[in-house]
Amino acid sequence: MKRQLTIVSYIGIVLITALSLLAFGQTEIRRAEITKEELSKHVFFLASEKLEGRRAGTPEAEKAALYIAREFMEYGLLPAPEWESTSVDPADFFQEFEFTSGIRTGERNRLIVGTEAEEISFTYDTDYKTLPFSSSTSTSGPVIFAGFGISAPQDNYDDYADVDINGSIVLVFEGSPDQNDPHGVLNQYSNNRNKAIAAREAGARALMIITAPEPSDSSKLLTLRIDRSFGSVGIPVVNLNVHSVNRILANCSEIYNKLIEEKQPKSLRLNNINAFIETELHTITSSCNNVIGYLAGNNPNQNDGVIIIGAHYDHLGWGGEGSMVPDETAIHYGADDNASGTAGLLELAQAFAADRELLDRSMLFIAFSAEELGLIGSKYYVDNPIIPLENSVSMINLDMIGRMRNNELNIFGIGTSPVWDSLITSQPSYDTFTIRTNPDGMGPSDHASFYTKDIPVLFFHSGLHENYHRPSDTADRISYDEMERIVRFVYEVISDLNTQDEKPQFVKVETPRPTGTMRGIRVYVGTMPDYVGESGGLKITGVREGSPAALAGIQKDDVIINFGGITIENVYDYTYALGEFSPGDIIDVIIKREGEEKTVKVHLESRRN
Ligand SMILES: [Zn+2]
Repeated sequence: MKRQLTIVSYIGIVLITALSLLAFGQTEIRRAEITKEELSKHVFFLASEKLEGRRAGTPEAEKAALYIAREFMEYGLLPAPEWESTSVDPADFFQEFEFTSGIRTGERNRLIVGTEAEEISFTYDTDYKTLPFSSSTSTSGPVIFAGFGISAPQDNYDDYADVDINGSIVLVFEGSPDQNDPHGVLNQYSNNRNKAIAAREAGARALMIITAPEPSDSSKLLTLRIDRSFGSVGIPVVNLNVHSVNRILANCSEIYNKLIEEKQPKSLRLNNINAFIETELHTITSSCNNVIGYLAGNNPNQNDGVIIIGAHYDHLGWGGEGSMVPDETAIHYGADDNASGTAGLLELAQAFAADRELLDRSMLFIAFSAEELGLIGSKYYVDNPIIPLENSVSMINLDMIGRMRNNELNIFGIGTSPVWDSLITSQPSYDTFTIRTNPDGMGPSDHASFYTKDIPVLFFHSGLHENYHRPSDTADRISYDEMERIVRFVYEVISDLNTQDEKPQFVKVETPRPTGTMRGIRVYVGTMPDYVGESGGLKITGVREGSPAALAGIQKDDVIINFGGITIENVYDYTYALGEFSPGDIIDVIIKREGEEKTVKVHLESRRN
């Protein structure tokens, strides 16, 4: 009996070994599920006209979510580990969340100014408007004109030095007295939100900002992008055009010109002028869905750990904020960004589901939404995980894997666990790519949300390109052969990870200059850095239209070697350098273009997101 048992066990081991070989030694079997035809089918659907760019919160994004959920269902994934119901509906795979998608003005926006002669009621949108960072309230008080509303004694300029604005409504010009002087130090104080904060700190009840006079157009109101924070500064802030202000402050343009000419603060309490301001803004809330599919593992020793594989499926819809051409209203198809990663996610789910009985660890496939609006979907997931995060073995992210050039595949997060390096280099397909790695687990995609929760991450990315965040990122531009190779390689990595006994250890990656990234960066340049570049400068993979970088003549493929006197070796130096400057600063940037050095002047703007 004993011996027999042993023989049975031996046969069992042989059988298991044979099965394992079939499963993992000869990965061809399951990789056969990953085909360029299916990848292309997914991308062409997700990036189709019908899906209108899948902006989070739109019905078109929901169509994409349903498509993904139906695929998950077909592969036999479950909505959650503890799923008990025998039937599954596509909506069961959804993890719904809400997010702030914009700001709208309410009914009660009023601006009434009483002068000695008359009471003027200004018309909303024609004469003035409420700025997005205004509070919603009402207030009144005497009006004080205070130049540019800049209080910078450190730079020998203070509009509030000779006047007490406590309890009053302050009227200022946008910009600074230096705005015609690219070298002026005062430009750094011209940000409107900062002016409102300064006014509030000095005790003002409200701030009225006059659009800088333009000889040709006195009716102009500011076009301000909503900043991502959606935060109010705590006092009402409105913008008036020159035409309207002339009714309370005669010769407004002349005063402006004089201020610029003399560069001397000039504040004055306007004679018996009082204002009443009422503001009402509302945040717009939208909801959207992460799509989550679960695949159960079999090894009782390992099934406490789940491998998370993710890709965001949302994109920019019809453009606007986040687009490289924000003023162009056109479908941003988002084929590479990130129908490609979503297609890869689906193919991986299908391949692993096909041989689920051989899986050791469990897997969670997540298609994230609202990534483009600030990694909102993945942040929501890590705060509301369906499996406790301590049981998450690692997170593998696919974002833009359809446009590989020169056979170069980027892998980020390699420093977030000691196992990654050997796990990647030991795969059969490793040598077929030129792999470029970056240790950092942070970065502009969903894996960053997991990294900040101390989960090892890997991020696969085939690089930025000229169609990035433009309407021209279309399905016909994707290289499906290359994409299939990438997804098969990712498959190898995950298969191997799946059989590892030990949960990968997490490592927090030290960046060379942590102070640089910890300080808030306030400036906007408009460059798209190559995050995986070698040392010796920072390569620029693209430049946003109309941005400070574009205006300075910086082009794609330029290498920045010095930024405002700071030597740039890599992206960390660049991040640090950005933190050193303020909006309005004019700095010298030395670039290398085709081997030649060139110095350009960049006029830094304030950050838009
Ligand atoms: Zn994107």
